[in-house]
Amino acid sequence: MSRHADTPGAVDGKLFVVATPIGHLDDLSARARATLAEVDLIAAEDTRHSAALLRHHGIGTRCVALHEHNEHEASAELVRRMLAGERIALISDAGTPLVSDPGYRLVRAARAAGIAVSPIPGACAAIAALSAAGLASDRFVFEGFLPAKSAARRARLQDLRAETRTLIFYESSHRIVESLRDLVLELGDERKAVVARELTKQFETLLDGSLAELSQRVAADANQQRGEFVVLVSGADDAEVAAKLADGRRIYAILSAELPPSRAAKLAAEITGAPRKALYAG
Ligand code: SAM
Repeated sequence: MSRHADTPGAVDGKLFVVATPIGHLDDLSARARATLAEVDLIAAEDTRHSAALLRHHGIGTRCVALHEHNEHEASAELVRRMLAGERIALISDAGTPLVSDPGYRLVRAARAAGIAVSPIPGACAAIAALSAAGLASDRFVFEGFLPAKSAARRARLQDLRAETRTLIFYESSHRIVESLRDLVLELGDERKAVVARELTKQFETLLDGSLAELSQRVAADANQQRGEFVVLVSGADDAEVAAKLADGRRIYAILSAELPPSRAAKLAAEITGAPRKALYAG
């Protein structure tokens, strides 16, 4: 177990992981603002981007960059500073650091060095979207960004066919049309879904409907392809998954007598909609 700064003899420095707004600049909590104003240093994903937020809130604390390309070296230096007693806040460009954002290496290194790490919670696009989507929210899975290339994206979605929890994805304007198309191809026309766009911003839009309806709607309207997106999709129906799996296993048994197991599983999955991995663990 690592030492903790609240225990006697532990280090004085501390790392605050501070959530910042996902659009509306006023979605910064009072505690986040006070923390950012009081720390010795802010480690920001993009110092120029964060300057606007800090200026808006009258915060003059010095910033250094911590992004995916320098996280390793920057973390070592920040840990050294905290071991010397400095209090540092980590922020990303939007929302909660570490959620599809850098920071994991710094948090891990700080904890390993016995430095206390404290979250200052706030906005997160996935949770904001879930809170307003009206899809089952008791159990959900956050899948982050889907792969950029269609073949890899479809393979990932095939593995999610039997997932019964609500699925949450992040998506960018470059790929929203293609990703919705692949969601329909892999998960079918009928699942209920929500496309949450530009949350907390001027053009905030939450569209709901079946996957097929949403895919068509977004593809047909250039305005609905602009900005930042969270895509939420209802999980698979338990009974439907069980039926597809039974079909998949039957077809796999027939095909695997003639074909290599991986090929048989791929075909059985394509024919029945059963998840390939559940048919063949190879
Ligand atoms: N750390 C952030 C969080 O807590 O949500 C997410 C950072 S990730 C690099 C950026 C992605 O989050 C965007 O591509 C989009 O999918 C989603 N996102 C961020 N802000 C959003 C917003 N205002 N509306 C919809 N999606 C948003």
